[in-house]
Amino acid sequence: MTHSELILLGDAVWLDFVNSARGRTLSPPDLLPDAQAYARWSRALQLDAGGSADFPLALSFRHQLSALAEALHAGLQPPAASITAINAQLAHAPGTHQLTRVSGTWRLRFAPLRPAGTLEAVARSAAATLADPQTFVRQCAAETCSLFFSDDSPNQSRRWCTPALCGQNGRVERRRGQLH
Ligand SMILES: [Zn+2]
Repeated sequence: MTHSELILLGDAVWLDFVNSARGRTLSPPDLLPDAQAYARWSRALQLDAGGSADFPLALSFRHQLSALAEALHAGLQPPAASITAINAQLAHAPGTHQLTRVSGTWRLRFAPLRPAGTLEAVARSAAATLADPQTFVRQCAAETCSLFFSDDSPNQSRRWCTPALCGQNGRVERRRGQLH
């Protein structure tokens, strides 16, 4: 896998993880077909995938996060199983809570004791999105594109995963309410 084969929008790690099973075409290939691909994907994001025994858990976590992204895009409550899976991953990360001053404001931050494993980092990213009322999860409006992105623009006006690839003239926009 080269970097050009990765789909990394860079909005949120957990959405990049969910998007690894999606794409801009109707039947996109799974970018994480095996443990080796998962390890390469993790390395590209400077995360530690762990051993290949962790791969089945990664796939089931991705499935639960996909359900979460679909629910958020549809304006529904997050599935309970997705929240449980996120909390289970958050519980793995050893670290301490610390008060830090950022631009004159006190923030409560979690300082991990070791570099984050992939699923821990993905879980933290999903938790941060859920905990931020100003961030919305959307699916790209292009007809054949199933990628999710996060939108924290003031009036939630973002419609495309990548304007240059999906927002150009000639693309048929997905009809309102139609997911695929
Ligand atoms: Zn798109």
